[in-house]
Amino acid sequence: MTSSETKIITRFAPSPTGFLHIGGARTALFSWAFARKHQGLFLLRIEDTDRERSTDDAIQAILDGLDWLDLTPDAPPVYQHQNIERHREIIDQMLAEGLAYKCTCTKEALDKMREKAKAEGKPIRYDGTCRNKESVPDDLPFTVRFKAPQEGTTVLGDLVQGEVSIENNQLDDLILLRSDGTPTYNLSVVVDDHDMGITHVIRGDDHLTNAVRQSQIFDALSWSRPAYAHIPLIHGADGAKLSKRYGALSVEAYKDMGFLPEAMRNYLARLGWSHGDDELFSTADLINWFDIAAIGKSPARLDMEKMQATNIHHIQHGDEDVLADYVMEQLSLSPENKTKLMTALPMIKKTAKSLDNLVENLRFLFLTRPVKLNDKALESLTDDKMANVRKVFPALQKLDAWDADGIANFFGKFMEENDLKLGQFGPVMRNILTGTGSPLGVYDLLLLLGKEESLARLDDILAN
Ligand code: GLU
Repeated sequence: MTSSETKIITRFAPSPTGFLHIGGARTALFSWAFARKHQGLFLLRIEDTDRERSTDDAIQAILDGLDWLDLTPDAPPVYQHQNIERHREIIDQMLAEGLAYKCTCTKEALDKMREKAKAEGKPIRYDGTCRNKESVPDDLPFTVRFKAPQEGTTVLGDLVQGEVSIENNQLDDLILLRSDGTPTYNLSVVVDDHDMGITHVIRGDDHLTNAVRQSQIFDALSWSRPAYAHIPLIHGADGAKLSKRYGALSVEAYKDMGFLPEAMRNYLARLGWSHGDDELFSTADLINWFDIAAIGKSPARLDMEKMQATNIHHIQHGDEDVLADYVMEQLSLSPENKTKLMTALPMIKKTAKSLDNLVENLRFLFLTRPVKLNDKALESLTDDKMANVRKVFPALQKLDAWDADGIANFFGKFMEENDLKLGQFGPVMRNILTGTGSPLGVYDLLLLLGKEESLARLDDILAN
């Protein structure tokens, strides 16, 4: 483990062969939160050594996804393929120090070895043919293999999984350099994690076996290993593997579905990590509370309903400036509309069921007259209700105190004098004022629209 003075350095190391999905985003979030909590560094390494499968689109999607989630790395990304010479240099060093050896076994020979092992019911492993040779011919194609320890045990103190140990005779000599001269994943990861000074590797538990291999390489090179935390993968709500529908979705699909980054961070954090019974919390709380010891050992379940509920909470308690920016963009509003928007946001956000719904419920403020009523609103304009609206209108024209109290007092008095209930004219007025209905009551709508606009909208209908 690291001493208390060592700066914590974590990394997120995606392979850019697809979009940033939920699982990757959670890995990034945990690595980021842990670094933030300890005033450490969070680094990004794009593992693009597979030149055939890595795409620029996928790299961009990963960068955009992290950017949207506000998981900003503390340094420009490291592109793994740019380190290839360094990886080869370490392989050469390992050859020189007898930590690795050249293997000239052909594909056919390896196939045969495999078949023999199968027939004898033995585990399929490289049999060490070239390990035991003094030297191999210079003119043959070769791979470089790690001279893995053959006796004893490799023990990994995983911060989530606990102690993981593997008998060294269970692992064969891993290829470090392919015959085409490209270093393999496990070698590259070790060298990069070392060179980047990574103190904590937090990643999916599908890499647990790799961690044992990587630990052996760290040990062979006499480099200190990072601490490992392998987090269980995410399952669907039914406990089975994550469905294609949600599992394969890019993080940006959630953006398009109207999720707030703050809500995503909250929900993703709860996928596998917990802080007592707290379900809804801010990012500041997450950073404060984050602790690898509180990551669970069993797979987390992705529950869309919970995710939606988390989003609603964050919209209803959301920062009004952030929400305003979103609404302005969605409704293509010019900057001078912001003041009007900001007066309505505190009331409307409390009613929002999603970001779309928030936008829809604010649209009425910016409609140009005459306001077009939808079918449902039109149907509500029955003769008896309209008769009441006609009665309210002239009285309302005389109201000067157009504020919350003034409006409430006015209607209180009006209803009493005319023996009417709010339901006999309020919902209809609401439909006229908004064209669609609103979760807000008519008093609030009148207040937000102001006297002139409210009366004009009512008059547009009454005059017809
Ligand atoms: N590039 C690997 C992946 O995307 C992760 C490597 C690591 O975290 O060590 O699965």
